[in-house]
Amino acid sequence: MSSSEEVSWISWFCGLRGNEFFCEVDEDYINDKFNLTGLNEQVPHYRQALDMILDLEADDDLEENPNQSALVEQAAEMLYGLIHSRYILTSRGIGQMLEKFQSGDFGHCARVYCESQPMLPIGLSDLPGEAMVKMYCPRCMDVYTPRASRHNHTDGAYFGTGFPHMVFMVHPDYRPHRPTSRFVPRLYGFKIHPLAYQIQLQAAASNKQSSSLRTLTYNNGKR
Ligand SMILES: [Zn+2]
Repeated sequence: MSSSEEVSWISWFCGLRGNEFFCEVDEDYINDKFNLTGLNEQVPHYRQALDMILDLEADDDLEENPNQSALVEQAAEMLYGLIHSRYILTSRGIGQMLEKFQSGDFGHCARVYCESQPMLPIGLSDLPGEAMVKMYCPRCMDVYTPRASRHNHTDGAYFGTGFPHMVFMVHPDYRPHRPTSRFVPRLYGFKIHPLAYQIQLQAAASNKQSSSLRTLTYNNGKR
């Protein structure tokens, strides 16, 4: 990358549209090989992908082969994502993500009684390729699809299934109170019985049964 003098690959990647949920992983963390244990078996073109992330000189044959270069670029994204999912469980990473959380970078819960609670990104699987990133509301403790479609292409494994829980385990003071009110369905001012629909469905089902029974008896009577 010719612009590597001014902006690092990591800053460039995190600045791309759709990558707003990622924080910038510290290069010292990536340079500590212990932190990358096992990733060489998970990511193709591992060595070249790692060099790309760290802005190290690319091989000559890579620059001459655009197809290969695109594959390495893809591998670098995956490798960065998997490193990111580990990094955001460290105290440094949690700190960076908490800053983003507080400035509302991850959006707010749409549920009325959550009162615009800021959310955190979460994965539904720790394996890449299984589910895209979701948003976790620590108030209603539920998960949502990100509101902006540009976030629907980010793998949830790059954030992980445990991330929000780690944040609130390390910083319990950031955990919001449970909502004090909840939505109550009403019709003409009367509360609707929580089982109303179930009762209605059961009644409809038994009506159907008795009417088919009636048809049966009627037909029998006719014969
Ligand atoms: Zn909520």
